[in-house]
Amino acid sequence: MRRFIYIFSLSAFLVVLWVFILPLVAIAPAGQDSYGQYAGKQAFHTLYEAYGKDQCCIKVLLKNNNIYLMSSATGSPDSETMLPVSVISAGSTKLLVNKDNSLPGEYVPPGLTSISSKVVKLEYAGLKLCPGTLNALYTMIDAAKKDGIHGFIINSAYRSITAQQQIFDSNLSSFTKTSGTYEEAYASTRQLVALPGNSEHHTGLALDIFSINGRHRNDFEDSREQLWLKENLQNYGFIIRYPKDKTEQTNTVYEPWHIRNVGIPLSRYLHEQGLCLEEFYDRIFAGHVIEDSESIFLGIKDKQKVFASADIMQEVRLETVNTGNCLLTINNCKKSQ
Ligand SMILES: [Zn+2]
Repeated sequence: MRRFIYIFSLSAFLVVLWVFILPLVAIAPAGQDSYGQYAGKQAFHTLYEAYGKDQCCIKVLLKNNNIYLMSSATGSPDSETMLPVSVISAGSTKLLVNKDNSLPGEYVPPGLTSISSKVVKLEYAGLKLCPGTLNALYTMIDAAKKDGIHGFIINSAYRSITAQQQIFDSNLSSFTKTSGTYEEAYASTRQLVALPGNSEHHTGLALDIFSINGRHRNDFEDSREQLWLKENLQNYGFIIRYPKDKTEQTNTVYEPWHIRNVGIPLSRYLHEQGLCLEEFYDRIFAGHVIEDSESIFLGIKDKQKVFASADIMQEVRLETVNTGNCLLTINNCKKSQ
């Protein structure tokens, strides 16, 4: 009898497993992203629809794992007539540099230009930025002056690998004098300074900006300059790269002075949503299409290509994030209701 009950229970268990549990496992998206399931399709699959300028409909389509962008004015989708969207790599404002993502040692941002001390005070001469970031900075500084904020001072901008190494070594040597062990000194240095190769200053898109009334790190916060900066920087393409409530995600202590150019509209989207760059890219590369009030963002992964019809090409930007990944931004469009 006991043997019968055992066999019966085992059979019942197997039936339940077969009928209810296995189908659930089989359809569960095992790490699949939101559009991964259509990746192998030979025909056009509509991922997303939005309204572009003049209420024309913009379609985001997927075929053979490639992305096709077209407006309703183009007619039916035709992969023959759509043009490849070229990737902006050198000088991309979408670069991700952190402890897991470094730039090649030989990377030099294109067109590095010295910041003019006529526009903004400099703590050191010869600080340089990429041209687009320099223009964004000048526009922001002018706007601040119009609001009566005149006290910004820049302490650091582009840093080559050699400069990063020197800063790391000098911090390590100061901490060694005050710490009990080398390990403690190293840990304190790492808290404050990125490892050479992993500093965002290498991109030419980041700078450290302070107030002449609160020049030192600890008294920048709540200065008039800092209060203006945190309210307005997103309108000039900048973000506070290491926010107070995101130290776990960024793996970097709160730095109200370290600002980074990611370009508009991404700067506004991150500001509105209260997201740091790491969180945004985690979502994007999990396969989510993200829209803000005026733009659509899509993550483009290794080997995926993007094509667009000629009439919307000027609204499309494809920019390098890190090895094998790009961010696709479609400007001037709103989600279809
Ligand atoms: Zn910095």
